Amino acid sequence: MGACPKNRVSKLRGRKRRTHYKATVPTLAKCTQCFQTKLAHRVCPSCGHYNRGLKVLEVAEA
Ligand SMILES: [Zn+2]
Repeated sequence: MGACPKNRVSKLRGRKRRTHYKATVPTLAKCTQCFQTKLAHRVCPSCGHYNRGLKVLEVAEA
């Protein structure tokens, strides 16, 4: 049958457990086309290239 918690987890206990939950810093890589920093395994947002020479996105020039 279904689970029915016998004891309520206190504010302190719940918070103590959640101290291990951490936000991770995203991995940054340099674009091989324009040498700007970009997220790894993502299309470069400044030139629209992926995996050197492969143009995937059309980026509007400022
Ligand atoms: Zn780029």
